[in-house]
Amino acid sequence: MTIDYADRIKNLPPYLFEEIDIAKKKAVDAGRPVIDLGVGDPDTPTPDFIVRKMQEAVSDPANHRYAIGKGTRALRASMADWYKSRFGVTLDPETEVLALMGSKDGIGHFPLAFINPGDEVLVPDPGYPPYNSGTVFAGGRSNLMPLREENGFLPDLSVISEDTARRSKIMHLNYPNNPTGAVCDREFYGKVIDFARKNDIIVCADGAYTEMSFDGYQPLSFLEVEGAREVGVEFHSLSKTFNMTGWRIGMAVGNPELIAGLAKVKANLDSGVFTAVQIAAIEALDNAEKVKALMNPIYAERRDVLVNGLNDMGWKVNKPKATFYVWAPVLDGFDSTAMAKALLEKADIIATPGNGFGPSGEGYVRFALTRGKEQLAEAVDRIRKAFFS
Ligand SMILES: *Cc1c(COP(=O)(O)O)cnc(C)c1O
Repeated sequence: MTIDYADRIKNLPPYLFEEIDIAKKKAVDAGRPVIDLGVGDPDTPTPDFIVRKMQEAVSDPANHRYAIGKGTRALRASMADWYKSRFGVTLDPETEVLALMGSKDGIGHFPLAFINPGDEVLVPDPGYPPYNSGTVFAGGRSNLMPLREENGFLPDLSVISEDTARRSKIMHLNYPNNPTGAVCDREFYGKVIDFARKNDIIVCADGAYTEMSFDGYQPLSFLEVEGAREVGVEFHSLSKTFNMTGWRIGMAVGNPELIAGLAKVKANLDSGVFTAVQIAAIEALDNAEKVKALMNPIYAERRDVLVNGLNDMGWKVNKPKATFYVWAPVLDGFDSTAMAKALLEKADIIATPGNGFGPSGEGYVRFALTRGKEQLAEAVDRIRKAFFS
């Protein structure tokens, strides 16, 4: 029989990380001392107290059954409490909070609730791939919003044509930003809200990195800004803050009608987050400040080792105030793919080519600070020897 993939799979952009992935496997198999700064996945284990809570919860048969619904009342209350204490945002746990199997679950499925075939979605470029793939799966089309260095990696709303604005139903945003490490302020969100109101565009703010910040900088929540709840939702995740990427737990919060739409899609696709994971998540959220006080100085130190090291040798890169990414313009004579390849071939370092995040990522590579400071110092040494001597 002939197996034919659906257009929605065929039409996804080619998996640009594939080539680098194959090259990495080859290098590792050949016994080369690879330093992997490719994937944005914390290298530190989940804190012990969260693991212990999970172990306890797994042993209780009451937690073994379907966890149907929006998340337990206790988890949604804990998520609302955390938003209140962290951002001063009041949420109704009944209507404004939805538990997710990681924020990717919510981001990827959200368009199914609001996009009809032919509708358009404003997607940051470079950006996290599910903004586009979720759009495509719903039969929609992505309008890329270039994030340029001269605009602080914020989209320029003034260049979005009236036609494009009229056809677009959703705008995705992500600050602090993956992959650029950029942050945004209240004034920017204010402009976004005005634009959304004027053009009836739903705003999906991805706050995955609001808790990973340095030097006293406190990223804001989209929902802190006047009018945000009228136009949008925020996706949040325990993945990065608590080293819980494998656990699959996150949340969507904000406008109750938007939350209800996403909840309806999810009610038909999954049967909830494992109750034991929800119980462990409450323990995590209740101790967020403690975990941040432990993790953020570690990332700040790593960032300084890499960024200062690169700048000292003449590779000029910005020092991010938040996220665990360093977004580095490629060296003269390289494009993104060639830079990533050369880093691997000449220095045994894995970095992600920026064009893997969209066409405007061309000309950059992304380093993830997911290795210890000694390995990052070693990476700096190798880069100096390979490219600056
Ligand atoms: C890592 C990441 C997430 C979190 O994904 P989960 O599904 O919650 O693990 C969301 N958005 C961005 C931009 C990310 O980089």
